[in-house]
Amino acid sequence: MVEENAKSNLFQNVSEDDWHNWRWQIENRIHTLSRLAGILNISLPEADRYKDVIETYHFSVTPYYLSLIDMSDEKDPVRLQCLPDFRELDYLPGSSDDPLEEERDMIVPDLIHRYPDRCLAMVTNTCAAYCRHCNRKHRWKEPKPKHFRKNLRMMIDYISQTKQIREVILSGGDPLMLKIETLEWFLHSLKSIPHVEVIRIGSRIPVVLPMMIDQNLCDMLQKYRPLWLITQFNHPREITPDAAGACEMLLEAGIPVMNQSVLLKGVNDSYEAMRDLLYGLQRISVKPYYLFQCEPVKGVDHFRVDVWKGMEIMEKLWRNISGLCMPRYVFDLPGGRGKMPLQPFSFL
Ligand SMILES: *Cc1c(COP(=O)(O)O)cnc(C)c1O
Ligand code: SF4
Repeated sequence: MVEENAKSNLFQNVSEDDWHNWRWQIENRIHTLSRLAGILNISLPEADRYKDVIETYHFSVTPYYLSLIDMSDEKDPVRLQCLPDFRELDYLPGSSDDPLEEERDMIVPDLIHRYPDRCLAMVTNTCAAYCRHCNRKHRWKEPKPKHFRKNLRMMIDYISQTKQIREVILSGGDPLMLKIETLEWFLHSLKSIPHVEVIRIGSRIPVVLPMMIDQNLCDMLQKYRPLWLITQFNHPREITPDAAGACEMLLEAGIPVMNQSVLLKGVNDSYEAMRDLLYGLQRISVKPYYLFQCEPVKGVDHFRVDVWKGMEIMEKLWRNISGLCMPRYVFDLPGGRGKMPLQPFSFL
């Protein structure tokens, strides 16, 4: 297996206990140019060429996620998602940091209330691994606000005063990167608001750091059901036994797990890759929810796929694979106008 090979090459001296310990994985994340040089098997001066990229867009990846890369392939789909790429600094005209104008819909800092019955709370800007295709990558650098806790408190106050909100989405960054006590305090505060019926957490932890989903975390989350977890698998190779185990634990705790993928050039922009991803998700009981058209975000342009190609892939999927596997293909319209479904035009 790829996982075993990579581990034995790059992390050969790591014990099984350390490898499966999420704290070890976090502490040993790869984020420096010298480690990058070692991984890419290039000299330090050569690696120095990546300096601008990683100074602009933070680089950090868990050993686990890194181990899924086939290093002999420069176009490896996992590599494209986590290792810095010069193309991140080639901005296309029309791209911006925040095309969705999320900042405009923030009533309280970091809380977006765009759709009447639900709101999205960006509770942190920290992630376990930083995805090169992230549409909020301009937020990575923002320092943790001094009044972090007060900010979360303000969100709770707004939600408790706004009776039409029945669902709260925790997003980020990755909400599971919060200290478990802070996360529980936030969930508990939400649960105490009578009109909040449902909580949703968006997290890529099952994909990039599955060992963090442990019994302790599941026991805590379980108390705040109905709670849904939405994750982001983008390629079939990410569905490892570790990742499947993490999803299984959540499911056993009564937490439905759904998936939102992004359509990414070179990662999953073919019928075969997408079919295998969706089949793989169905096999681990994770329901494909959305497939997002990549947005015109600065630093992400090289991942964008023509919308007609996306439609073609969707149409072929629709004709061939189980309905249970099908996500909705959507485009979050620039300017904060909301999500628009993209339907293959043979249905019109
Ligand atoms: C996507 C999104 C949601 C959730 O929308 P669903 O269609 O319910 O998944 C909520 N708020 C914002 C700002 C969003 O972008
Ligand atoms: S986990 Fe989500 S928020 Fe974090 S870098 Fe990846 S896409 Fe962005």
